[in-house]
Amino acid sequence: MSGTAPAEDVLLGRWLCPVVWRVSARARRLSLRIDPVHGSVVVTLPPGIPRRLGVRLLQANAAWAAKKLRALAPAQPLEDGAVIRLGDVPHAIRHEPDASGECFLAEGEMVITGAARHLPRRTLALLRAEAGRRIGNRATRHAGVLGVKPRAIRLKDTRSRWGSCAPDGTLAFSWRLVMAPEWVMDYVVAHEVAHLREMNHSPRFWAQVAQLSPHRLAAHDWLRRHGPGLLRVGRAEAG
Ligand SMILES: [Zn+2]
Repeated sequence: MSGTAPAEDVLLGRWLCPVVWRVSARARRLSLRIDPVHGSVVVTLPPGIPRRLGVRLLQANAAWAAKKLRALAPAQPLEDGAVIRLGDVPHAIRHEPDASGECFLAEGEMVITGAARHLPRRTLALLRAEAGRRIGNRATRHAGVLGVKPRAIRLKDTRSRWGSCAPDGTLAFSWRLVMAPEWVMDYVVAHEVAHLREMNHSPRFWAQVAQLSPHRLAAHDWLRRHGPGLLRVGRAEAG
């Protein structure tokens, strides 16, 4: 998980805007951007520029920031009773504070053992383990069809790339794909496995992908619309 400075609430008119202040030696000018993962406004200050100038810029752009933040998918905290989709099946988090031992998946449930303060971390670990299992199985199946073999499969928590294929044949995937419909995960895995045959996006590459998955366009569309929501699972709302 990427380390982020905690957001601070800045009063803009009557609205408390969650703001992360960033001082950057490389920044040439004061700037604002939306952090869609944490649901905050990031104000980048060049060295020596005081915060009050940042606040002034925020005030001038308050309507823009409010609109952008409102448009984000709601942050989905991990807590007892929260429902997370694993592939095509919704799973409710069931907290068993008095149980010891491993967390596990049951019928439509993720059973999370141990103290409440460990629940988010233990839920993420369970999701990640399940992602590794499912993505690994898919990759093995697709690789078998094309007669290729990934060197290794790694899981990451990326923001913008759902999968990648390194020149040495190592495939990497966002573990968050486990929360996408199965056909979407299937397509992303197919795409990266096909790169083991064709390290480009030529018509020959797309022909390999089409052998493995018919869902190219629909999966791109799904990820464009719903991918940002996957990034918000397990995040607390800023501010
Ligand atoms: Zn590609």
